[in-house]
Formats: sequence, structure tokens, C-alpha cells
Amino acid sequence: MAHYDAIVIGGGLVGSAIAYGLARAGVKAALLDEGDVAFRASRGNFGLVWVQSKGDGAPHYQRWTRQSADQWPALADELVTKTGIAVGHHRPGGLHLCLDEAELEGRHAMMERMRTQSGNFGFDYRMLDRRELADLLPGLGPTVVGASWTPYDGHANPLNLLHALHKGFVEKGGHYLPNSTVTGASAAPGDFRVRAGGGEIGAAKIVLAAGLGNAALAPRFGLSAPVRPLKGQILVTERVREVLPLPLTTIRQTGEGTIMLGDSQEDVGFDTSQRPAVMRTIARRAVLAFPWLRDLQIVRAWSALRVMPPDGLPIYDQSERFPGAFTANCHSGVTLAGAHANLFASMVAAGMLDPTLEPFSARRLDVPAAV
Ligand SMILES: Cc1cc2nc3c(=O)[nH]c(=O)nc-3n(C[C@H](O)[C@H](O)[C@H](O)COP(=O)(O)OP(=O)(O)OC[C@H]3O[C@@H](n4cnc5c(N)ncnc54)[C@H](O)[C@@H]3O)c2cc1C
Repeated sequence: MAHYDAIVIGGGLVGSAIAYGLARAGVKAALLDEGDVAFRASRGNFGLVWVQSKGDGAPHYQRWTRQSADQWPALADELVTKTGIAVGHHRPGGLHLCLDEAELEGRHAMMERMRTQSGNFGFDYRMLDRRELADLLPGLGPTVVGASWTPYDGHANPLNLLHALHKGFVEKGGHYLPNSTVTGASAAPGDFRVRAGGGEIGAAKIVLAAGLGNAALAPRFGLSAPVRPLKGQILVTERVREVLPLPLTTIRQTGEGTIMLGDSQEDVGFDTSQRPAVMRTIARRAVLAFPWLRDLQIVRAWSALRVMPPDGLPIYDQSERFPGAFTANCHSGVTLAGAHANLFASMVAAGMLDPTLEPFSARRLDVPAAV
């Protein structure tokens, strides 16, 4: 039986970022991934590295997201240097457009709450009126009344990120094992064995980062990851010259020139079908923001399933019953890649999660039953 310092289950963005960070820290690690039959949010997302709407009422999440966005430039530089793959990270700030006065007022109130909740950590934002926005975004639709802006937001090419993390992991000595669905496992403190791909491997530590697969895997390791699918559909236009200088919550121009329009939130279980009615709504909203979009061809569209914890906040834990078993779950795996590769992986390598991650434990979800 092959033996490792650590096994990471799940080769999506969360598992790959953690595995990359572990290998970089000199940990002998194996990364197991299920393969093409799996639901994989990491291959169907919108590519935002987004801070401005994360953590209203949960300042620890706001801080963690900001820390991750701050780690991103170094991670992107390191990945291109070590792997030759540019992950297309840009951080010009980001905008959330508001289409009427009530929406603008609500958005302003939320941004101000987040500033107050941030305490000493700080939270810079500005509300832009229509005139300022029109200077920044030529061809703005007449219904847009304003927007919120923060300097923290950005975007990247998520497929290149995934590719670079896999390549970087292997180049740092990691063992990437695709088509390796974990079908069985045994756990004892500091001694974990998993059956996958017709063989068995063991390690002193294990990280469950299998996206929606974590819900079934976690209880075997004394952990809990009650994540559920939340479908999102995305449309992509033909390529055009650079027209959008910065990303917006649901509209962004890629490095290649296409414009991505997103992304719905549909609570429909494991259904990944595309719905013309939803696609029409996405397109209509985008055209309200920028009427010129009407003249562009849609060249691609897809749907994918988010990995959604019950309260929308990430779940990070180390098992109390089986120390050495960790889990990581979130619905913003692009944004949080910086934190997962540079911060979370070091905690796993050290064998202990930082106390600042305590509020992310799944124990917060243990609500006493009504009597
Ligand atoms: C439409 C949409 C838009 C999004 N937009 C953004 C965005 O703009 N910014 C952002 O930050 N995030 C965004 N996200 C979220 C982001 O894509 C996810 O948070 C992230 O991809 C989750 O990564 P993951 O590795 O946890 O899960 P996944 O990508 O689902 O990967 C899980 C992996 O685990 C493997 N696996 C499962 N079970 C097993 C098993 N038993 N054995 C072995 N392997 C297993 C699977 O093969 C899979 O590869 C979006 C998601 C969607 C769906």
C-alpha cells in the first residue's frame, strides 16, 4: 500500500489549491479525483475573485475573503513562474450595478453595514452615481442608476487556474491520481486509508475537498459537510475589442475578449439541464445594463452546480474524533484559492487549524431540536 503524509480527496479548485500548498510546503501528498462523471463546479464557474458582497453579518467571512484576494497576486505570479500557465488574474476593482433607486439604497445600506462590521480591518467602498459610471462604462443602459465599487475585486481564468494548480502540484512532487473515486475508507487518529481506483493508499492526514461529494464522505471521518447543489447558468458572447475595464457582479469580459453573462441561482437538486427561460432572463438583465450586448452572438452556454453550505458560509473543520482529518467546503472556490493554497494548506501541514477559522466549523449548524 502506497503511503503519504497527506491525501486530498477532490481535484477541483478547493482540493487542488490545498494540495498545491501542501506539496509546496514539502508534504508528500496524493490528490485523488473522481473524473468526468463527477459534478465539478470548478469547470463551470464565472471566474470572479470577489470580495464586495461576501460576509454581510459574518465579519470573519469578510476578512477571510479579503485575505484570500490579497494572496491572489502572489499566487498568480508564482503559478506562471513555476508552471508557465498564466491564470489571467486582474484586480482593477469591481462593480455591482443597481437598476433602480430602491436597489441602490439597499446596496448602499449593505456596504455601510459591512464597513461597520469590518472594525479595525477596514472596508473601502464607494457608491458611484450614474454620471460617474457612464464615464467609466460607455454604452451604459438608461435604467442603471448607480453602482457600488470596491478596490478588492478582480477576476481570473478559472480553467487556467485549475490547470496550473494541477501542474504545479505535480512539479512539486505531488501524486495526482485522476479517475480515482474514493469508494471505501477507514479512519483512526493519524491513520487514514482509502480505497480508490482499484487500490488502497494510506496517510497520516486526509483532507476532504470533494465538493458535493463531501456530504457523503465527511461522516466516515467524524466530520460534517451538509452541502447541497445550487445550479447556475452562464452565457458567453462572441469576442469583441476591450469594452469593459473591470468586472461586474454578473457581467465580465475575459482576457480573450468574450463577455460572460451570469449567473442564475436555481435550487433544483442535481439537475444540470439548461433552461431557455432562465437563459433569456440572464440575457435580458445584461441588455438592460448594456443595450449594445443585444448585437452580440451568444456562442456558448452551460450550467454547473455550486457547492452550497446551508448558510452560504464556508465549512472548515478538523475532526475531533479522528485528528488529522480535515474538510474544506465553499461556494467561492475561485476567490478563496489564494487562502486555500497559501493559508489553509499551511494549517493542515502544521496539523492544526488557526483559531480564526473556528467560526467556520460545521458545529455552528448544530441547532438543538425543537421540543
Ligand atoms: C455557475 C457558477 C458560477 C460560479 N462563479 C464563481 C465565481 O465567480 N467566483 C468564485 O469564487 N466561485 C464561483 N463559483 C464557485 C466555485 O466554482 C466553487 O466554489 C468551486 O469550484 C468549488 O470547488 P470544489 O473543489 O469544492 O468542488 P468541485 O469543483 O465540484 O470539485 C469537487 C471534485 O471532487 C471530486 N470528487 C467528488 N467525490 C469524490 C470521491 N468520492 N472520490 C474522489 N473524488 C471525488 C470530483 O471529481 C470533483 O472534481 C461558481 C460556481 C458555479 C456553479
